[in-house]
Amino acid sequence: MSTTALTNRAYRLRSRPVGAPAEGDLELVSEPVPEVADGQILVRTLYLSLDPTNRLWMSDMRQYSPPVELGEVMRGIGIGQVVESRREGFEPGALVSGYTQWQEYCVAGPEAGFFPLPDPLQAPATAYLGALGHTGLTAYVGVEMAEVREGDTVVVSAASGAVGSIAGQIAKDQGAYVVGIAGGPENCRHVVEDLGFDAWVDRTAADWREQLVAATPKGVDVDFENVGGEVMDQVLMRLNFRARIILCGMISQYDAAGSDWQGQVHIGQILMQRATMRGFIITDHADRFLDAMTYLGEMYGRGKLRYEETIVQGFEQAPGALRRLFTGEKTGKLLVHVADPS
Ligand code: NDP
Repeated sequence: MSTTALTNRAYRLRSRPVGAPAEGDLELVSEPVPEVADGQILVRTLYLSLDPTNRLWMSDMRQYSPPVELGEVMRGIGIGQVVESRREGFEPGALVSGYTQWQEYCVAGPEAGFFPLPDPLQAPATAYLGALGHTGLTAYVGVEMAEVREGDTVVVSAASGAVGSIAGQIAKDQGAYVVGIAGGPENCRHVVEDLGFDAWVDRTAADWREQLVAATPKGVDVDFENVGGEVMDQVLMRLNFRARIILCGMISQYDAAGSDWQGQVHIGQILMQRATMRGFIITDHADRFLDAMTYLGEMYGRGKLRYEETIVQGFEQAPGALRRLFTGEKTGKLLVHVADPS
């Protein structure tokens, strides 16, 4: 197929959001698909992963990777199908995952980090953007760092989300007592009844602080922290001696620039309880991916790894859907369905 016949639709960053992203921050443009050069592949995006880090990349706050520049195509991870290949190991028709960016067609070389999905698939393709993809790997690596011991109390925030739901199930698989903090009755029901956590705390309830105390009668040995802010602050007050805080994410802070949040008030509890806090970014831990995939695949195979997806239909819906990560109007992994495989 000649790529000159194809038109690409892409979202380009036009302005940096202030607070919640607004529709005009990303502009949908139509552009010709570039020719495929030696070493490159042309990929048609099938599903786009919406991640809290998309919001981070739209800002110019100090962060772990360079922000998206104004005018650039929005950065993002997706699953796609190879349409044309001038790169060894990538056959036309194959399903791949990598940095598709927020666009319908992607022409890229090795820098985009594409890798072929297993053939045959072990699970539905979308799982490779969630439980068996980057968010599952993040959960595995974070729990491994926490050195969870049998009987530990592990608290997971954003527990019904992509990372939290898997982190809690792994900790449970390793013998911990797992408490999930989630937003609203349905997400709380989900973490206990569907995912098998031991207890929940509804962060939207007026008495959520009391719920946290009641749910952690033996204190907290591990905090798998996904949100930061006041939720984290209250968990700090429950830390046990030599507790471990795994700082995976701070979603409550990503669009909070300029708010009147005063910072973690109870940070001194790390000192008082001789606790440790460790931040990590999953891309630094490629050496653990094979073990992680083996573990997650095995858990999935024995029916012990449950996951939920919220799939938004249509590429045009992507900018609006991003907000759902911050309002909590979704369960599990948030994805956008862009196209079907041919
Ligand atoms: P989720 O699927 O968990 O979606 C985010 C969830 O966070 C929402 O659904 C909502 O759940 C909760 N939330 C949103 N805003 C707030 C708030 N202000 N206070 C408390 N809770 C809030 O996203 P992911 O699983 O993809 O990511 C979870 C965290 O992990 C993020 O902070 C992300 O940046 C981080 N992350 C880190 C990685 C790393 O390498 N370190 C890699 C991937 C993700 P509810 O309403 O149910 O509480």
